[in-house]
Amino acid sequence: MAATQMAMRKFGHLAREVAAVGQGTWEIERSDRKQAVKALQRGFELGMTHFDTAEMYGAGESEEIVSEAIAGRRDEVFLVSKVLPSNASRKGTIAACEKSLKRLRTDRLDCYLLHWRGHYKLSDTIEAFEELKRDGKILSWGVSNFDEEDLDEALEIAGEGKIACNQVLYHLKERAIEHAVIPWCEKHGVAVVGYSPFGSRGGFPSEGTSGYKTLKEIASAHSATVHQVALSFLIRRDSLFSIPKAARAEHAEDNSAAGHLKLSKEDIERIDRAFPLGKRPGSLPMI
Ligand code: NAP
Repeated sequence: MAATQMAMRKFGHLAREVAAVGQGTWEIERSDRKQAVKALQRGFELGMTHFDTAEMYGAGESEEIVSEAIAGRRDEVFLVSKVLPSNASRKGTIAACEKSLKRLRTDRLDCYLLHWRGHYKLSDTIEAFEELKRDGKILSWGVSNFDEEDLDEALEIAGEGKIACNQVLYHLKERAIEHAVIPWCEKHGVAVVGYSPFGSRGGFPSEGTSGYKTLKEIASAHSATVHQVALSFLIRRDSLFSIPKAARAEHAEDNSAAGHLKLSKEDIERIDRAFPLGKRPGSLPMI
């Protein structure tokens, strides 16, 4: 596949364009640290400048690894972290953000997310996000694992043009967000960031299955890999972003190339048939 530019696209209502394929970092601290930093840096060099972390990941260690990987390159990075629901009170959100900034060795986050709905009032978390924004500690905020009803509630509190993104589970075998979440986000100018694009640990279609065979055939026709084909499908709409995690540089290289693989209409229809959407579940699946 010819090397071209990483796809950049508008991130919700933000003026700034963000890399469609970014880098997840959940459990990255479980890998050899030097190797993990090298993988993130390789991904960055190849255009995966969108980094996703959270205070929860490795109890802050993932944020420290990201800070090492982006040292000296902060201005070129779109940096996202998340507050745990158990910290997401009015004051707790501010304190959690300040701790994340310290671990990340930066003065601001590009986007700060509520990791999932918890027991604190959503209005308190949103007020804290708005205060952080006024103080320049975050440039935007968003949510994660929000279904349609949660999004309605957040919109009711914050108003249009405030929620930058919704980060949700999205891979070939789990397409539930296509029922209501993607249409809702597109209607309200909210970026959809799909997490666990390879089904997290061991969830990628296995060799020998008909789904895998379809991916392999499409990949061969594009001189690409099956993982690139999967990622390209998952970012096929302008509202969609994906954040695969790779602790190995060769995986980062592979994933970055998906940012410029263009699937045909027929390819997309074949993948759609091989990994059917299914019925809308009672609640939004999450990991
Ligand atoms: P994932 O990205 O679906 O899969 C990661 C696994 O795939 C790792 O074992 C990785 O190996 C492997 N891999 C990566 N690139 C590959 C390639 N090109 N070929 C073959 N294997 C490859 O899993 P995830 O970490 O669950 O999801 C991604 C990110 O989404 C997380 O890291 C996190 O940032 C975010 N997330 C958010 C939430 C939320 O609630 N908001 C929940 C889950 C995840 P190596 O690591 O060995 O390279």
